[in-house]
Amino acid sequence: MIVANWKCNGSKAMIDAWFNTYIKDSEESNGVFIGIAPPTIYIERVANIAKKNSLQIKTGSQDVDISSGARTGAISIEMILDNNCYFSIIGHSERRELFNENNNDIRQKIIKTMDKTLPILCVGETLADNKKNLTKDILREQLEVIDNLEFKNELVIAYEPVWAIGSGLTPDPKDINEIHKFIKDVVQSITNNSANPSVLYGGSVNSANATSFFSEEYVDGALVGGAALDGSSFAEIVNLYNGIKQQ
Ligand code: PEP
Repeated sequence: MIVANWKCNGSKAMIDAWFNTYIKDSEESNGVFIGIAPPTIYIERVANIAKKNSLQIKTGSQDVDISSGARTGAISIEMILDNNCYFSIIGHSERRELFNENNNDIRQKIIKTMDKTLPILCVGETLADNKKNLTKDILREQLEVIDNLEFKNELVIAYEPVWAIGSGLTPDPKDINEIHKFIKDVVQSITNNSANPSVLYGGSVNSANATSFFSEEYVDGALVGGAALDGSSFAEIVNLYNGIKQQ
C-alpha cells in the first residue's frame, strides 16, 4: 500500500502535469493499493483523471471532522464519502501540532469514520522522545485512541517519526521493522476483535531509500509526502514496492 499525502500543495496545472509523468513512468500492477490524499478542493479532479485513465489510484482525505453543521472550514465524513474517498488520514503530526488536535479528538474521528471509510491513523515520536528512548511509550499512548474499539473493516497505522518528516532523516530500516511489529502487537492486544492492521512507514521516503524500507517484513507500504508531489518519483516508489512485495 502506497499513499501520497500532498498536504496543502498543488494546483490544477500541477495535477495535470503530475498525471502526465505518473502515467509515463508507472508500471501499475494488480492489487496494490495506491492512494492520493490531495487538498480537499482537488479530490474530485484527481479522482476524475485517475478514472479517465483507468488507473488504480484511489482518492482519500487528509483529515475528517467529527461532525457536520456549524463548523466553519470543516469537512464531514458524509462529504468525504460523497466525493469517492476510500480512506482518511487521521492524526497526522501536523494536525496535532499546528491545529492542536489531541488524542481525544483523534479517537472521536476514528469512531466517526471506522465503519464508513478506511482510517489511516498516524503515530510517531518527536526527536526529544526518541533521544530519551521513549518511542514505544509514546506510541502506546497514541494508540490508546483505538482502545476497546472493534474494527469490522481494515485499519491502517502509519508510523511517522515526527523528526523524519520532511527532514531527510530516517530511522534505520531494522528499527522501523521492530517498531512496526510492536505497533501490530499493541493494536492486536487493545482492540476488541484483535485487529491486525497494515503498518505503513512515513518520513522522508523517496525513490532512493524506499527499497530499504520495503525489504523489511513488517513494513506494509509507505505514506509519502514530499516525494509524492512529483508524479515520476511517486511512480518509481510504487514500482519499487511492486517489485518487492508483490512477487
Ligand atoms: C508526511 O508528512 O506524511 C510525510 C511522510 O512527509 P515526507 O515524506 O515529506 O517526510
